[in-house]
Amino acid sequence: MPNIIHYRSKCIGCNICYEMMPSTWRMSKKDGKATLLKAEQKRQTSVLQIDTNLIEEAKKVANACPVKIIKVNG
Ligand code: SF4
Repeated sequence: MPNIIHYRSKCIGCNICYEMMPSTWRMSKKDGKATLLKAEQKRQTSVLQIDTNLIEEAKKVANACPVKIIKVNG
């Protein structure tokens, strides 16, 4: 199953992922970082399984992240 991996600790809170894909991302009011919604926490990462039809959109977000902390497998 395709997935999105987020290395949250390195997030600079630029908002881009949320603006591009609000169904999947939220900005935390607590620390200003992005949160990958409904993701599973695995070590230093958040991992969210996604449907195949979301891969392209998720990859665009990954490319747009200025600190390149989003990876999309699939
Ligand atoms: S685009 Fe990257 S740096 Fe910006 S809020 Fe999202 S995860 Fe954080």
